[in-house]
Amino acid sequence: MKKHKINELKNLLSESKNIIITAHRNPDGDAIGSSLALMHVLEKLGHSVLVVFPTNYAHFLKWLPGNEKVLVFVDSKEESISKISNADLIFCLDFNALNRLDEMEQHIKISSAQKIMIDHHQNPEDFADIVFSDTNACATAELLYNLLKELDYIHLLDEHSGTCIYTGIMTDSGSFKFSSTTSGTHLITSKLFDLGVNHTLVHEKVLANNKPSQLKMLGYVLSEKLDILPALNTAIISLTNSELIKFDNEKGDTEGFVNYPLSISGIKLSAFFVERGNKIKISFRSKGSFKTNILASKYFEGGGHVNASGGTSYKSMKETIDYFKSVLTSFNDELTSN
Ligand code: 5GP
Ligand code: MN
Repeated sequence: MKKHKINELKNLLSESKNIIITAHRNPDGDAIGSSLALMHVLEKLGHSVLVVFPTNYAHFLKWLPGNEKVLVFVDSKEESISKISNADLIFCLDFNALNRLDEMEQHIKISSAQKIMIDHHQNPEDFADIVFSDTNACATAELLYNLLKELDYIHLLDEHSGTCIYTGIMTDSGSFKFSSTTSGTHLITSKLFDLGVNHTLVHEKVLANNKPSQLKMLGYVLSEKLDILPALNTAIISLTNSELIKFDNEKGDTEGFVNYPLSISGIKLSAFFVERGNKIKISFRSKGSFKTNILASKYFEGGGHVNASGGTSYKSMKETIDYFKSVLTSFNDELTSN
């Protein structure tokens, strides 16, 4: 990391009084883990820090140390807006495009606070004063750990902040199995173990925290809704509003569903379409070199990583899936080559 950026950030921190940390809508384990870890470290440095997320998030991420201090913008708009307008420093974690803040975007945009981006997605937008972007990092939490090291703040980490960083790395690396996981990732993890992080507990809290209704919904979507396109090595699953209601769906309940079709031998691309109000939220996952982020950005106003990305459609479910199938033919070569 460039030394002058580190010094610039140190200077900003020495002058800052009110710090806001935010991350993308529907924050995931990496967004929440990175944000809370940074909050713990900055609090140890004596700063007044507030974590504000644009929207609520899954119940299996609400046990993280410091979660009780988080403000959810859509649930506490007045307080969030007032805190954002008083901030002199805003950290933007795990996203690089302001539209991923939904309604919160305009308030962050007009704020006169200095903005620091820490992120690992492709093609960062130019809205921050200092940008720490590393698309090779398996998680923003990994990038944050390395940044804290450069800032000489590693000694400020403890079991709590270590647990937050571990959760970010573990969730975004698919429990250390994605190709973004490196020896560096494992070295950081080893340091986190030394801080007393209980990895077994993190895995249990995040991955073995399902409600019976979630498992029933997963069973339903796999047995009734799986659509395999053998010629394109692609599998599709989908859930409509009424199906979600049938299974008492709450935020985060469908997390991870998109991975199941990908476990079928020979399937290179899995697509999951979920109706959310008047929109369809789409998740893509791939095995190998198929670039789901190109598909997402070109046709579904989205983006993300090579093997995991997402987008949105404003058409009906049927029209969206028909459209998906029609654009997929242009990826025939990538999907059928070895
Ligand atoms: P998920 O399928 O879990 O919602 O998202 C998978 C990945 O794609 C995440 O890394 C997320 O940041 C990215 N992603 C999901 N939806 C969008 C989107 O609408 N725009 C962009 N740029 N990235 C997205
Ligand atoms: Mn991430």
